[in-house]
Amino acid sequence: METAPYTVATFAEMLSGKWLVQGHKDEYIAHLLTDSRLFQPRQGSVFFAIRSRRNDGHKYVQDLLKRGMKNFVLSDAGLAQSLRDVNVILVDDAVAALQRMAAIHRSRFDIPVIGITGSNGKTVVKEWLFQLLQRKQNAIRSPRSYNSQVGVPMSAWLIRPQHEVAILEAGISKPGEMERLEKIIKPVTGIFTNIGEAHQENFESLAQKIEEKIKLFQNAERIIYCRDQPEVHAHLQAPHHLKQAELYSWSKHAAADLKIKVEQGETGTYFKGIFRERERQIFIPFKDSASIENSCHCWLYLLLEGFSDEYIAEGMAALSPIAMRLEQLDGVRGSTLINDVYNSDFSSLEIALDQLMLQRKNKHYTAIISDIMQSGEPPELLYAKMAELIRSKSLDTLIGIGPKMVEFQEKFAGLNGQFYESTEAFLDDFKHSDFGDQNILVKGARSFAFERITDILSEKTHETILEIDLERLRDNLNYVRSLLNPDTGIMVMVKAFAYGSGAYEIARTLEFHGVAYLAVAYADEGITLREAGIQLPILVLNPELSSYDAMIRYRLEPQIYSFLTLERFTKALFARQSDWPYPVHIKLNTGMNRLGFDPHELDELGKRLSGNDAIEVISVFSHMAASESADFDALSRHQIEQFDAGVEKLRIQISAPFRTHLLNSQGIFRFPDQQRDYVRLGLALYGISGNAEFRKHLKPVSKLITTVSQVRTVAAGQGIGYSPKKMLSKETQVAVIPVGYADGLPRALGNGIGHVLIRGKRCPFLGNICMDMAMVDVSGTGCTAGDAVEVFGDHMDLYEMAANLKTIPYEVLTSISQRVKRVYLHQ
Ligand SMILES: *Cc1c(COP(=O)(O)O)cnc(C)c1O
Repeated sequence: METAPYTVATFAEMLSGKWLVQGHKDEYIAHLLTDSRLFQPRQGSVFFAIRSRRNDGHKYVQDLLKRGMKNFVLSDAGLAQSLRDVNVILVDDAVAALQRMAAIHRSRFDIPVIGITGSNGKTVVKEWLFQLLQRKQNAIRSPRSYNSQVGVPMSAWLIRPQHEVAILEAGISKPGEMERLEKIIKPVTGIFTNIGEAHQENFESLAQKIEEKIKLFQNAERIIYCRDQPEVHAHLQAPHHLKQAELYSWSKHAAADLKIKVEQGETGTYFKGIFRERERQIFIPFKDSASIENSCHCWLYLLLEGFSDEYIAEGMAALSPIAMRLEQLDGVRGSTLINDVYNSDFSSLEIALDQLMLQRKNKHYTAIISDIMQSGEPPELLYAKMAELIRSKSLDTLIGIGPKMVEFQEKFAGLNGQFYESTEAFLDDFKHSDFGDQNILVKGARSFAFERITDILSEKTHETILEIDLERLRDNLNYVRSLLNPDTGIMVMVKAFAYGSGAYEIARTLEFHGVAYLAVAYADEGITLREAGIQLPILVLNPELSSYDAMIRYRLEPQIYSFLTLERFTKALFARQSDWPYPVHIKLNTGMNRLGFDPHELDELGKRLSGNDAIEVISVFSHMAASESADFDALSRHQIEQFDAGVEKLRIQISAPFRTHLLNSQGIFRFPDQQRDYVRLGLALYGISGNAEFRKHLKPVSKLITTVSQVRTVAAGQGIGYSPKKMLSKETQVAVIPVGYADGLPRALGNGIGHVLIRGKRCPFLGNICMDMAMVDVSGTGCTAGDAVEVFGDHMDLYEMAANLKTIPYEVLTSISQRVKRVYLHQ
């Protein structure tokens, strides 16, 4: 049986593609790449140029050629024919070809494949099954949450002859997708985690969504699910499309194959379960309901597979939390940290290294990596493979921690490596000065407690963080894109530190997702972005007279809003003839009455611009004063008319074509016919909108979270904090949280005006908010020190918080102080 790596000829055949250009006939294909940014020169890589509504992989082919990529799968015949000295396989659709190839590859392995689908919990069930099976079987599973039309074939491709079991997850967002994933995964056992609201907008009903998901099990031999989800149970019982699958369920209430009883303990949850008439017990070190559900799916699978109760109980007690996403945060002395302190298996190591190498803020790359704990492979081989992987990335420093890393350190010869027996040994030797101005990956198995390393590298002094979800940011961007005409470009406002979210990180994400322009308020903000390597054109809304030279040096494009700015900027350009004509943007005042040329000035402006060789007008624009509300529609319509009249005037006098733009976030939603060449997207990108209809499609990007420092019982009649206005009327549980007005938590929220979320309950502030701390009423919640607190985020609506304060979300977001650490979540 031939298996990967495949020869190019076989690979082309599996893709049903045409091997059009034959550059390296002896090449073997071993590594699939769909994201050109992740390219590292190594043997056997092939690039799939994927076309989507939003991007086209063919754009990156020339760049990859220069960087040494030797194999391509393309669907653009013209481009394909123009390439020389490389292998090019021509297909009609790269995703379909990738899926066909993966299905054939998968079919070569006769192993028990577990296919997991459902609305929530797929990744955790997959990772936990992996943790549970690893001690007995050589298992392979989808990396992270690779469960999409591209992620599933990439995961199935990883199956190799040494694997005894494969665990793959499948996620869909609309009808028609699951059939394609089923053909690839072909699960022997199917697990249906649960059904919820995710992606409901693309389905007619919950029933339709369940039906679609169930298609994963068309050819399965058995299906595991929770009997307590009545809709799921009903659909699985009506077996019209499930060939031969036997159903196995677990339940808290009803008769089921595994009937469970749950009891909360101090540090976790105790289960009693009856399976095949015998009582069995397990304990898991988690207390939340999602973990309880996820562990039961795993438990039932292990029971059906005949694992002993002892083996199961041992594995369950040792389950570790799953870091669903890589975290990124600022470290000491200008460094950037990528943090994954839970896992240390091979495939997640590769993903984490890729994420590290994508960082551009610093030029030095360091990885701190522990022994790999979960692997069925002989260590000799494993560490040789790991060294090969690390060599293929251009790391500057490797720090290996653990007895195995020390034992096999000679495998890493040639790399700049340091090796330590244990985390303690590393910390004993630690000097902050060794870790300045670097991009650093911290990745280790849970038992190494690498969070101690991230703590000192990030100088974490403070538990309060602003968590920024870059995947949601991308989703919001794509939703806005779906509202736009195909030729309308997006200019994103990243002023005020990207509305408090961190300008560089946001700009970098936007650059990758193909926005047209960025805009900042001041030249300084633009300079910071340029110095960090951002290439997109940047508009500066408030170019101060003193910053013109610097702006020209950094290719920042000013907004020209008055004759004085026009004159001074032209003068600055006189000294730099080589930069002529320099791009600028003309701002018209159409009724907002802030910056801009007034209607009566436009004849004169046109005259001056037409005779000015030093500048090129890229765009003419205006800003709406109240696009959000129908109450102001008369004003908005007036502004639109004024803008049209102004643009018409300027077009007569300026012979060169220029572009126009008018809409901000709310305008995009309310005035779809005014899109023009660009829209200027701000608040909606961060998932916030005052319009309920718009908001339904957006996801909040930032979360302000912290942890409880102390809880105490305070007797009736006592006061809380500084100058208490009111004494407690009854005995109260009071929690202290380490966030205060110096962090940007408005003092006006004190004395019951605002709330935070603790243990799923809304808890009001007690007394005045202090500079660095605040107190909340946690009576009846069971709250203890160390509990998580959400100040705003998914559950505590920022809009509501702003409304309580009689302000707008813009003010709250941009007031979060820089002392609050920003942590970025990547996909
Ligand atoms: C801030 C700003 C925007 C974006 O406004 P949102 O309401 O956040 O979408 C657009 N245009 C100009 C000129 C701005 O200053």
